[in-house]
Amino acid sequence: MSAAPLVIPAPAPTLVPVAGGGVFPVRRVYCIGRNYAAHAREMGADPTRETPFFFMKPADAVHPCPGAEPTDVPYPPGTESYHHEIELVVALKSGGRDIPAARALDHVFGYAVGLDMTRRDRQAEMKAKSWPWEIGKAADASGPIGEIHPAEKIGHPARGRIAVSVDGAGRQDANLADMIWSVPEQIAILSKYYELKAGDLIFSGTPEGVGEARRGQRLDGEIAGVGTISVRLV
Ligand code: MN
Repeated sequence: MSAAPLVIPAPAPTLVPVAGGGVFPVRRVYCIGRNYAAHAREMGADPTRETPFFFMKPADAVHPCPGAEPTDVPYPPGTESYHHEIELVVALKSGGRDIPAARALDHVFGYAVGLDMTRRDRQAEMKAKSWPWEIGKAADASGPIGEIHPAEKIGHPARGRIAVSVDGAGRQDANLADMIWSVPEQIAILSKYYELKAGDLIFSGTPEGVGEARRGQRLDGEIAGVGTISVRLV
């Protein structure tokens, strides 16, 4: 007996190039909010180690930007204030529920440099109304991501410069060590609420210095010991 036929073509999976070969298929995209104290303050929040909060982007909002030359990334409709948030992205090769922090890194395939692009104007309106954030955070192509670098090659970065420039002018420039919740802690907490699986990405939060980027501008991001990303908003 054959499987029931698809009544429309299956949506294409999002595939992120891996340094050294192959592609990583994306299942879900989790994002952590306010994970660097100075950024929490610039957003008007009190940076404490209360339970961190998470939101999601759709998997097809991830936009691979594997080259050293800028990859075109579409500027979305519906915003006058599109902000860059440079982030370490964690790519999982396996998952589970109730993962202890001490075992969390066993589930990590690798890491990439990503941008959690945000319609800040729409996000602010939603916050003011206590409405969901999706219109601010889940725009098409709102998750540019560089190549994924396997942990077997680069290890598990916990410190090092994380920075992004816009048209060559420095914007965000901080250190991974400034995270409030470490990557293992993020995985442990997320896995209490969701069954994590291979293919999941975690955008691990952004440091201070977020700001607008406009059509035509070039963004260059880097995380020491991980890699780079280069984007042109079009
Ligand atoms: Mn973010």
